[in-house]
Amino acid sequence: MPCRSLYGIFPVSGMKRNIRDLKGVGEKTEKLFNKAGITTVEELLHDYPRTYDIYEKPVPVSDVKEGMVCTIRAQIATSLYVNRTSRRQVIGVTAADPTGRIQLIWFNAPYLRGTLKKGMLFVFRGKVTRHDKRLQMEHPQVFTPAAYQEVEESLQPVYHLTAGLSNKTVVRMVRQAMEETDLSADFLPDKVRQKNDLCDINYALQTIHFPKNREELFIARRRLVFDEFFLFVLAVQKLKAGTIEKRNEFPMKASWVTEDVIENLPYKLTNAQTNVWHEIEQDLCGRFTMSRLVQGDVGSGKTILAFLAMILAAENGRQSALMVPTEVLARQHYESMQDLLAKNSLTKHGVVLLTGSMTAKEKREAYARIADGSAAMIIGTHALIQEKVAYHDLGLVITDEQHRFGVRQREELSSRGRLPHVLVMSATPIPRTLAIILYGDLDISIVDELPASRLPIKNAVVDTSYRPKAYRFIEKQVREGRQAYVICPMVEESDELDAENVTDYTHQLREELPGDIRVEMLHGKMKPKEKNRIMDEFASGEIQVLVSTTVVEVGVNVPNATVMMVENAERFGLAQLHQLRGRVGRGEHQSYCIFIQGNDDEETRKRLDILNHSNDGFYIAGEDLKLRGPGDLFGIRQSGDMQFRIGDIFQDSKVLKEASEAAAEVLQLDPDLTLPQNRNLAETLQLFVKEQLENLGI
Ligand code: ADP
Ligand code: MG
Repeated sequence: MPCRSLYGIFPVSGMKRNIRDLKGVGEKTEKLFNKAGITTVEELLHDYPRTYDIYEKPVPVSDVKEGMVCTIRAQIATSLYVNRTSRRQVIGVTAADPTGRIQLIWFNAPYLRGTLKKGMLFVFRGKVTRHDKRLQMEHPQVFTPAAYQEVEESLQPVYHLTAGLSNKTVVRMVRQAMEETDLSADFLPDKVRQKNDLCDINYALQTIHFPKNREELFIARRRLVFDEFFLFVLAVQKLKAGTIEKRNEFPMKASWVTEDVIENLPYKLTNAQTNVWHEIEQDLCGRFTMSRLVQGDVGSGKTILAFLAMILAAENGRQSALMVPTEVLARQHYESMQDLLAKNSLTKHGVVLLTGSMTAKEKREAYARIADGSAAMIIGTHALIQEKVAYHDLGLVITDEQHRFGVRQREELSSRGRLPHVLVMSATPIPRTLAIILYGDLDISIVDELPASRLPIKNAVVDTSYRPKAYRFIEKQVREGRQAYVICPMVEESDELDAENVTDYTHQLREELPGDIRVEMLHGKMKPKEKNRIMDEFASGEIQVLVSTTVVEVGVNVPNATVMMVENAERFGLAQLHQLRGRVGRGEHQSYCIFIQGNDDEETRKRLDILNHSNDGFYIAGEDLKLRGPGDLFGIRQSGDMQFRIGDIFQDSKVLKEASEAAAEVLQLDPDLTLPQNRNLAETLQLFVKEQLENLGI
């Protein structure tokens, strides 16, 4: 699910119009839009296309290849046949041009029966697949030759879709919204715009949705990326101005207890972990309040560093809170912490869990223990920053997998304590120069070493014909006592996207594997309680195979799992695949990662191959970038990562630097943004920050 954080680029209009105000949006369509996170016309306009379809020139039928999306101009050569399976109706026909013939099929499209008459000429555009050794085009779009000529070589927006909402509908609504919106003054001061050679906001919005050509699209996109970074950096820099070098009012004392905990660990800390721990310890005991980012690749062992800091705080009589982005991860950390305390006879320090899915009674109990201080450590999701939570004496706040949280959430949690120390943990591999901009208010530590005991993960990039082998392999691993993840891009079947979904896949896999192997599913649409139960049972080994969406991507730790199989690997960014891979290879056993490529595109294979050659997150991000020229519009942008909706910190690093300099210049002249030329900007920044919070339901 793409991020829907939204900031008003229409500060002057001020007024938000409900999506229902658009002609043609009834109750049903409204619901579908809401499901996609869109409630107002402004939100619709800021829901930029996911990508663009280029309606290329038709190719001869003899040139079409499996896996390609292509366009042919061909005559209907046979009469239509209709096949009905239990799930859907399939209609098919053969089309021909002077170079060859090809089968065309459609699913559940009875309306085509009146259109496709033998002898007529059409343009068909669709994906080519292979069926019984023959090529066929699956569910192609149908155009009259004249209609196709109109769109030929143009860029057509493709939006993020929810089931039931067609791209056509979204396009129609965006067009209407664009026409009816009273576009307003630009919030970016003229000087900034001129200096950075940026186009006008109205032009940018119009063009990002309906570009005439790639050149225009680049210009528009650059402006929107700049805006996003600029506002973000302004927010960070203003924050920094307010927090600079706060004196440490309650310096802690180093303690033997943490040394003992380290001694008692079942492993030896890596040098990198030891160094970073000492940096943290010095901060906590030093003259200034800690604001530190700990960066480290997946599996580098960041959790124990957070735990040590919490234990040191508790030993010094201060409360600490650890905030993580998912319930699954919160519960896991909570249980590990309890374990660690028990093993070290430190159960005198109370730990509580606080997540949204707990019952009202459980929450009340947690609130009480947080308020009276009997909970020294609190672990939870963003339930930790709900208003009802009153802390006794919050001295240390930690956010794990930071890229999932905005700056504001971190700040919100800190504001609950008296100048608490702040520790931020992230696995996003950002080069230091960018980290300094994005985390402008933090010192940076890097855990640049993996535990030596780890066996490198063995990787394979294969096509779908490899599946039976993969299933046998998983079976074998399970027989040896191990566990496996299978990742699918979608939760359930969709007409719009051709990709594996968790629901159907789970049923199929149960058929494929022997009955005594327990296969269960996990996805974001399940109730939190259900998710927790499944995750617990997987962690304890009762479930052997977990079919899941990317919800397991963030931080989950089940060291006994040794196989990660990713379906439709082409649909994920490399950084995301790297995160997924990080779910295995966390224990002593040899681990394996199987990336199934669902198309046979050469470029995709090259990209996925990078994962074959390295297990290093920084290297992978860099290589991914090199493979994509500057001509790539939507590069390695990750849904969710850093919460940027259009900007990509890697690909757009140059714009990020420009935006950062521009923000510094503006603030230098006008730190409080009170000058008349910055009035719109100040308003927009406020909206930006506010909507970041709303996004989390706070
Ligand atoms: P991440 O940095 O991705 O958050 P974790 O902190 O979850 O990684 O650690 C991954 C796994 O490695 C855990 O099972 C943890 O117990 C283990 N681990 C951490 N440090 C070491 C180490 N120095 N040697 C061996 N295993 C370690
Ligand atoms: Mg982690």
